[in-house]
Amino acid sequence: MMQRALDLGITRFFVPAIDSSYTEAMYALEREYPNHVFLMMGLHPTSVKEDYKEELRHVESQFKERSFCAVGEIGIDLHWDTSTLEIQKKAFKRQIQLAKKHQLPIVIHCRDAFDEIFEVLETEKDDDLYGIFHCFTGNLSQARKAMSFNMKLGIGGVVTFKNGKIDTFLNQIPLEHIVLETDSPYLAPVPFRGKRNESSYLTLICKKLSGIYGVSQTEVARITTENSKMIFKK
Ligand SMILES: [Zn+2]
Repeated sequence: MMQRALDLGITRFFVPAIDSSYTEAMYALEREYPNHVFLMMGLHPTSVKEDYKEELRHVESQFKERSFCAVGEIGIDLHWDTSTLEIQKKAFKRQIQLAKKHQLPIVIHCRDAFDEIFEVLETEKDDDLYGIFHCFTGNLSQARKAMSFNMKLGIGGVVTFKNGKIDTFLNQIPLEHIVLETDSPYLAPVPFRGKRNESSYLTLICKKLSGIYGVSQTEVARITTENSKMIFKK
């Protein structure tokens, strides 16, 4: 899978963290592709459970040992479990502060939780707050609101879906605010919708954006790659 992506010129892989049970596997992937794989560290909102304080200590302990390209994925997910909203908010806020302390971007996971996410971001808004709203699926006003917090919009397979809707207004958002992503193994773009997603399908997202913006795929790739470099410094 990695080789298929590399063969298409996709050479930088930004890998989000989920929780402590995945940390070793992430390090192993990085050891295999040290020039291509860049790791984030964080506690994913769907992994925020009763033991979240312990999980956050794990996140913080990793930062004492090495560096990462971002704090992510962090945020709020109310699709699977609404009972953890309060601790999700706490974990999100604490990890935003961790990112600022290390002068790193955050990568936000938001599912059915725009208002709750914006509420937390409002309390943390300053010059040190920046990052990516990953897998953005909101409307135009939510896109503008996300950008007001210094967030780029991560655009993936959903932009190719018939009912995805973001393709209808995306051209009103300058490409300078967009990064491409796959969210593999989830959200594979058309014509692979419903199948296992992989990084090489990034080319399909690029192609779709080329149509939406009316610029060449090379230009979409150039600008969005530049944006990712500004964020991750990699
Ligand atoms: Zn996510």
